[in-house]
Amino acid sequence: MAKAENGRVIDTEFPIEDKFEHLPAPTKKVTISRGLTSFLTVQEGCDKFCSFCVVPYTRGNEVSRPLSRIVEEAKNLADAGVREITLLGQNVNAYHGQGAEGTDKGLGALLFELAKIDGLDRLRYTTSHPNDMDDELIAAHRDLDQLMPYLHLPVQSGSDRILKAMNRKHTAKSYFQVIEKIRTARPDIALSGDFIVGFPGETDADFADTMTLVKEIGYASAYSFKYSARPGTPGALMDDQVERQVADERLQALQSLIKQGQSAFNQACAGQKMDVLIEKRDA
Ligand code: SF4
Repeated sequence: MAKAENGRVIDTEFPIEDKFEHLPAPTKKVTISRGLTSFLTVQEGCDKFCSFCVVPYTRGNEVSRPLSRIVEEAKNLADAGVREITLLGQNVNAYHGQGAEGTDKGLGALLFELAKIDGLDRLRYTTSHPNDMDDELIAAHRDLDQLMPYLHLPVQSGSDRILKAMNRKHTAKSYFQVIEKIRTARPDIALSGDFIVGFPGETDADFADTMTLVKEIGYASAYSFKYSARPGTPGALMDDQVERQVADERLQALQSLIKQGQSAFNQACAGQKMDVLIEKRDA
């Protein structure tokens, strides 16, 4: 409560609602200049506890919205003119929302439901963990035209030793295996990833493994960062921090390799016909 200048008392409290209830209902007034694309949060939090990441501490355990609520909201967005929805979550492919029968449904099942909505031409999701790319989700990439041939699947490092120190719970080999399954399901998929260089204890040999992985996967794009310790995470307490100059040099080398991969991907697209979604007119 607060007191206004005229002496009246004003209620300034917000009702306590579920954090997912804050999303505004879309209006019918979506125009080409206001946006044909929309984000839709389907889950929050993460149970993975990678040793460099604050998400499990700041956002808490993984929580998924019920499937029917997401479908209803997506229908409203489609009715309002939205043509492309990107499903959001800190670890989006860990989604396990309650379905109509009361059992949990994965992200693949959710995508199959969303693909039935008239007018919704494009679906995307981000960000994912390799261990949560299950068969139903990979089948969605194979079977759904609406699911765009793009996947952002962070790996962070190509070194098993560093992946273990990062508590990623996967190896370089298991990442390759997942990528192979996805490429078999959707050969034209454009892959993107995240990389951290200079994680505590990273040697030249570990970094070389990352460079090898990047070359072998052939990313269409990727994000790369120099490790910086986040207070409260296990990584911040690790000895053997990598010298700044070494980390800088590794980042430059990695980014240059990623750029080469990106141009190779772009060149391979030359001459192909692709549908595009024009989001807005240039003023
Ligand atoms: S990096 Fe991703 S998977 Fe790992 S703890 Fe953070 S949000 Fe979870």
